[in-house]
Formats: sequence, C-alpha cells, structure tokens
Amino acid sequence: MPSKKPYKFQDLVGKKIKYTTKEKRIIRGLKPLVGGEWEGKIKPTSSIQRKERDELKVAIKKKLYKIQGHYCIYCGCHEEHTGMTLHREHVLPKGVVYYPEFMFEDYNLVLACITCNNVYKKTFDCGTGEKTNYKKNKFSIVHPYFHKFKDHIEFYPKNGNVIIRHVKYSRKGKATIKLFDLDSPNRTEKRSALIMKNEVKVPSSYDAILKTILSSKYVK
Ligand SMILES: [Zn+2]
Repeated sequence: MPSKKPYKFQDLVGKKIKYTTKEKRIIRGLKPLVGGEWEGKIKPTSSIQRKERDELKVAIKKKLYKIQGHYCIYCGCHEEHTGMTLHREHVLPKGVVYYPEFMFEDYNLVLACITCNNVYKKTFDCGTGEKTNYKKNKFSIVHPYFHKFKDHIEFYPKNGNVIIRHVKYSRKGKATIKLFDLDSPNRTEKRSALIMKNEVKVPSSYDAILKTILSSKYVK
C-alpha cells in the first residue's frame, strides 16, 4: 500500500459527485428544501423515510471521499491529523436564513475538518444571495469546484516553514486565507510539520527540500 500523504492542498475543478436515480428521487421527496431537511425530523407530508435520507447522507460522504480523498478541502490536512472524521460541509450555508435550496447541490458539498468547519467558517456567507441558480453567486472565497486554487493561492518555503500567501491581486485568495486563518503561526507550523512528516519545526536548511516536495506532491 502506498503511504498516505499527511497533507494535500487541492481544488476539485472538473470533479463532481453524481447522484443515482434513487438518490435523486429521495432529494425530490425531501423538497421543498427550506431548512432542517438535512437533519432531524422528516416532514409528515414527505414521501421519504428518515432512514432513506440518512443513508443518502452516508452515500454523499462516500462520494466526496472518492473525489477529494481524506483531506480537508480548506486547510489540506489529512483527516488523521484533524482530531476527528471530516464533516460534510456546505460551501454556501444550508441554514434557513441562508441557502437551504442548495443543501443537496452537488457543487455545494465538500469535506472539511472540524476546525475549518466549526471554528472558522461556521455560517459565513461567501455567496451573493442568488438562490435559484447556484452558479450565479459571485463567491468571495476560492470555490473548490469553480476556481483553480493556483490562480489565487501559492506556497513557498521560508525558514523551514511552508508559507501560504494569496496570488498578487487575488481577492478570493486573500479572503480564503483570512477566513481560515491559514497564515497564522499555528496553522503554518502544523502544515510545515505535516509536509515534512515530522511533528517538530523543520530547520531553514530544509527550504530547498521543501520547495521540491511542494511542487511535486502536496500542492496540486
Ligand atoms: Zn481544515
């Protein structure tokens, strides 16, 4: 078995989960999506059983693991280093006052770690309120399915650390780094340690090695 990388920063451009006919029927049966259909009780008027909805959510997670692996889509850490299993994350929040319509939208679903999901992003609205056509939203952060991260975010080694910064003039890159605190000392040290497969801070003499590793494996 090839060894797992502890870190991978990626976008999902060109990838997408696919629903089966049965899954599409379940989603249709849960409509109208007005908030609350993702968890908790099923509307008494719905033709769908709670068990079917819950199995759909398990299937969604499996599909997401297939296209993005076990890496948080926002910070790049492997699940094993995030303290918990990854969460299903809605890029546009699914709450009643946000975008419940897009609860099962394929482009709106990713996997993220508990820190990115619960500490940083929470219900942050990165869209522009367009609730009919998902893609008509102008996203304020780098959208995993629509934007190539390399157009917005870059990495470089400095003093043994893997530094992250936004590509010049990229407001999405800047907003993403700020939202998830990706350039904080803590997150920078963790990223650097994971990339060097080492729990300690790496010496600056490793900059050249880091540069090679970054370009070949971890950032794509
Ligand atoms: Zn994360």
